[in-house]
Amino acid sequence: MSTQKTSVELFERASAVVPGGVNSPVRAFGAVGGTPPFMVAGEGPYLTDADGRTYVDLICSWGPLILGHAHPAVVGALREAAGRGTSYGAPTPGEVELAEEIVARTAAEKVRLVNSGTEATMSAIRLARGATGRSKVVKFAGNYHGHVDALLAAAGSGVATFALPDTPGVTGASAADTIVLPYNDIEAVERAFAESGGDIACVIAEACPANMGVVPPRDGFNARLREITAAHGALLVLDEVLTGFRVGPSGWYGLEGVAPDLTTFGKVMGGGLPAAAFGGRADLMDQLAPEGPVYQAGTLSGNPLATAAGLATLRNATPEVYAHVDRVAARVSAEVGAALSAAGVPHRIQHGGNLFTVFFTDADVTDFDGARAQDTGAFAAFFHAMLDQGVYLPPAAFEAWFFSAAHDDTAVDRVVSALPRAARAAAEAGGDR
Ligand SMILES: *Cc1c(COP(=O)(O)O)cnc(C)c1O
Repeated sequence: MSTQKTSVELFERASAVVPGGVNSPVRAFGAVGGTPPFMVAGEGPYLTDADGRTYVDLICSWGPLILGHAHPAVVGALREAAGRGTSYGAPTPGEVELAEEIVARTAAEKVRLVNSGTEATMSAIRLARGATGRSKVVKFAGNYHGHVDALLAAAGSGVATFALPDTPGVTGASAADTIVLPYNDIEAVERAFAESGGDIACVIAEACPANMGVVPPRDGFNARLREITAAHGALLVLDEVLTGFRVGPSGWYGLEGVAPDLTTFGKVMGGGLPAAAFGGRADLMDQLAPEGPVYQAGTLSGNPLATAAGLATLRNATPEVYAHVDRVAARVSAEVGAALSAAGVPHRIQHGGNLFTVFFTDADVTDFDGARAQDTGAFAAFFHAMLDQGVYLPPAAFEAWFFSAAHDDTAVDRVVSALPRAARAAAEAGGDR
């Protein structure tokens, strides 16, 4: 591997003052080995690290950067907003405009802005419990909804990457009301409702799971969740923190059309700044304080910089942008498949709109057990061979690959030309799990 002097130094310093040297676990390369490059700049489809290496970025900040790094409209909106001050602790026009944009595109009639996807799902669950007067929450194994206590059981993302059991620090009491079911298993949902339907406040699911890798809902799965919850007086919460405004202008809802009672949003809607939201039926949302009794608040919620970046991003994410991202994802996934086939590496490429994951397994993945059966050693070898060739993939086998409007032919060609060597590395590593 090329020299990474400054990144190695920074990681040592970071590790002395930050647990694991990172502020979010999957950044640490724990699953693939090695030292993470420390990034100092992003431009279009590229990232530059502290050692002066550039990478084609296929993480895009884990989803938010649908326009690429440092898009002029986003940077311009931020400069202008910053010149007017960073936070007022009072209502602002930007919050109204961002809420209107979200309401116009989605099933939500009203939304409340928060600062992270975690806050959005946590608040949606509280609202569901408050509105129904019930306590139990159904979630699916391998679905990730942020690091909310009640939702960490059998969670995806970093929890899956590091194969963590139910995390210490979550009390039995806060996990006791969580029912974890296998994903895509509608009979398990029916059984749970037959047993405890009257106690279930809500079912929460990723609209199209992408945090155990992309494992799309079976045909009709979300629609059945809609019917079952409605029949039992429970709410359906679809988590679109990742898919919202990334797989299309209206997120997964725009592709599938199942209207949940509550939806959570994040990532793209903040344009790379901390902004997220939860929203849904007006009668439910009006149960939030100050209109109703369910408390929810935030010092920096609806922050003017975040709403400026989010609005600039949503307004510039035109149909052409989505068509481009769709095309690039289709091309790269086809090229990955060809390279892995040529090298004889067992794999499955699974799509959810323009999101896809390369699973190093020879069986279709429909749930968390299937995702965990993949050969993570082959992935680690593939990952490092790509990194060596200047392509920055998510450093974990349980993630989607992300593209942006800025991923032009030059950037994509660089990705494609790196694939054969990475596929051979995966072939060599394959088998020794
Ligand atoms: C990223 C993500 C979250 C958590 O969002 P944070 O902003 O990281 O707290 C929740 N749900 C899904 C589906 C996500 O992908």
